[in-house]
Amino acid sequence: MLELLSAGHKVWRFEGGEPYMPTPEPIKQAMTAALARNETRYAPSSGVPELRRAILDKVRSKNGIPADDESPIVVNGGMNGLFCAFATLLDPGDDVLMFSPYWTPIADVLAYHGARPLLVGTDAARREGLTKALARAKTDRTKLLYWNSPVNPTGDVFTRAEVEEVAAFVREAGIAMISDEAYEDLIYEGEGHVSPASFPGMHERTISVFTLSKTYSMTGWRAGYVLVPKRWRLPMQTIVLYSINGVSTPTQWAMLEALRMPDGFLEEARAGYRRRRDALVGGLRSAGFEIDRPKAALYLFPKVPPQLGRESAAAARALLDTVRVATVPGLVFGPEGESHVRFSFSVPEDTISGGVEALKSLAAAAAR
Ligand code: PMP
Repeated sequence: MLELLSAGHKVWRFEGGEPYMPTPEPIKQAMTAALARNETRYAPSSGVPELRRAILDKVRSKNGIPADDESPIVVNGGMNGLFCAFATLLDPGDDVLMFSPYWTPIADVLAYHGARPLLVGTDAARREGLTKALARAKTDRTKLLYWNSPVNPTGDVFTRAEVEEVAAFVREAGIAMISDEAYEDLIYEGEGHVSPASFPGMHERTISVFTLSKTYSMTGWRAGYVLVPKRWRLPMQTIVLYSINGVSTPTQWAMLEALRMPDGFLEEARAGYRRRRDALVGGLRSAGFEIDRPKAALYLFPKVPPQLGRESAAAARALLDTVRVATVPGLVFGPEGESHVRFSFSVPEDTISGGVEALKSLAAAAAR
């Protein structure tokens, strides 16, 4: 794709995963104000106390997590929080249960720590029963379950009953959980977000990972936080201390402002996402893609139309070469992602209309 772009070709870009809008002004102004107040020195490694308190208020009231006062640690975005969480919990040779399709970097982080993913296909597990499928996949070396809902790449949301069932499995198996809640605020229909650590006995065995990247359009700020139960707090704080030694101080003041944004802001953002999602779902259907409308996140994950074959890598290549539409091949999200491609709908609206026209020309050519 980069070659096409540098050769001056127009590419309809759906391969990203970023909010479509810029960071809200009050958040940017809070960074400027922090600089003007010379909030430019070291902060405590686990975070500025005012911010940690605001995080506690948020997770207790909004997520229903019974977090104790010392549990929040401010980190450099979700990725950093996840890496530190896996580093805290994993030893080489450990196994990790996770549903598939999954967010690609997780498999690499596990490999880095010498751990092995135990993939449980989400669709098949739903047919069989989640508990049964997890119990069948579990080994004696299983240390933890990695959980992500809403799901990247499918835009799926696990129901409250499903979260409860998986939490009960984790508790009864005596394993830990890392819960990746990056898209908690980008849910457009249905029940809403459920944090596994809100269920009885679960905060104690869960590291919950949150990010401001998607909710507040802050992908480039590298701003997130984790909730760590007491038993893993010291090792996790030590990893954060000796790796990043905290998040940039002015960024933390901007994070505090983000957590104070009024609810209306999110409603407006969600309306924009919903509009883009519906436009792209309709457009893709009219171009011959088979697709359900996802409830959440930023992505559509349709099956590739038959004329493009079944292999997602070849299909994504063909979409780029023939109609200059950039997507992500589903196989990178695990074997269960094969024969799908991922489109982000969080793109400019003229990318949706232009990209859909290009895809329709492909369908028309196939029909001839
Ligand atoms: N988890 C999931 C499922 C994601 O999709 C992403 C970003 N694409 C992240 C975590 C991490 O995001 P960040 O590092 O920007 O907070």
